[in-house]
Amino acid sequence: MKTIKIEKSQWAPGLEKASKAFRLIGPVKEKEFHSFKPLTNGAQPDLTCLNTRLSPKSLVYPQSEVMFNYSLDEGREDHHRMTEAAKDYSPQAVIGIRPCDAKAFVLVRMNFDTPEYQDPYWLRAYESTTWIGLGCTSPCSSCFCTSAGCGPYHEEGLDVLLADAGDHYLARILTDKGARFLDAAGWKTAAAKDADQTLAAMRRTAEGKITSFVQTDNLKSLPNNDLYSATFWEDVSFACINCGTCTYSCPTCWCFDIQDETRGTSGVRMKNWDSCMYPLFTLHGSGHNPRGTKLHRVRQRFMHKLKYFVDKYDRGIQCVGCGRCVRLCPVNIDIRRVCNMMNGFAASGEACAIE
Ligand code: SF4
Ligand code: SF4
Repeated sequence: MKTIKIEKSQWAPGLEKASKAFRLIGPVKEKEFHSFKPLTNGAQPDLTCLNTRLSPKSLVYPQSEVMFNYSLDEGREDHHRMTEAAKDYSPQAVIGIRPCDAKAFVLVRMNFDTPEYQDPYWLRAYESTTWIGLGCTSPCSSCFCTSAGCGPYHEEGLDVLLADAGDHYLARILTDKGARFLDAAGWKTAAAKDADQTLAAMRRTAEGKITSFVQTDNLKSLPNNDLYSATFWEDVSFACINCGTCTYSCPTCWCFDIQDETRGTSGVRMKNWDSCMYPLFTLHGSGHNPRGTKLHRVRQRFMHKLKYFVDKYDRGIQCVGCGRCVRLCPVNIDIRRVCNMMNGFAASGEACAIE
């Protein structure tokens, strides 16, 4: 792996050059918050942004996406046939994604790209994207990435990792895709010989600033049924208003619903984000709902992220410690507290009132 040096004076000209080969996307401030947006007309990514309010998952997995078009007009040759919607999968580069969000795509891929099933929409969008990450120098108090299998300079899921070294960036090239992006930008100055030690020192300093942690070491060995029946779920779920903010803001939540929307004789088959926190998500056609109360739904969210995922994939928890759900939950339900309760759980013989 090679590390190069990008003078900040060469940053904007390089992005301008790269924009001839890639559609550029980066964090942009709109009113009070940052979000990932296309960088058009020379717009620059705001790399002072600690992180975007919503995760960048929508860049690969839009909140609403047309999969197919159809017509019910029997006068048409193709009536009642699904036609795949045309999409633009030309190369794009996301500049300034944080390591936690890049790692989140790796976890989500485990669901959308299995030996049996592949989601072609998610995969094509993911594969056409080059991920240019930015190491975090000032993690915030709700970040707990280092105990969630990630870290402020974590490299998994990235093609290039940038580190802000004052008047220049150090760019660690992690994949061929990353090398192609840097070539397109015309950045090729070799970094000083001690660049890797500099990066390692920056990583240690940033990791030392993380003050928030979760314990996960017992999760795998805990019996599923005991944890499911624990009495603490009543306390954990008490304040929840099932608003879905935690799941919509989370980079690792992937639930969706498919709906046909017809107007007149034309229609589209849509894939829309959904949430395990909504009662309709599991409502059966019969009227039965296996997760009919908020206790069921809150328990499902935490059991999925912190137990079922751990058991199924043996790759840690389905959370990268970005802290968004901690910051945004209107009633302060905190995954760190719940994770530590689950991890420290010892069956008492007392079961949760609602099975
Ligand atoms: S953000 Fe908080 S209140 Fe809203 S669904 Fe999630 S846990 Fe419940
Ligand atoms: S901290 Fe919350 S929002 Fe961030 S990855 Fe974990 S569960 Fe998702």
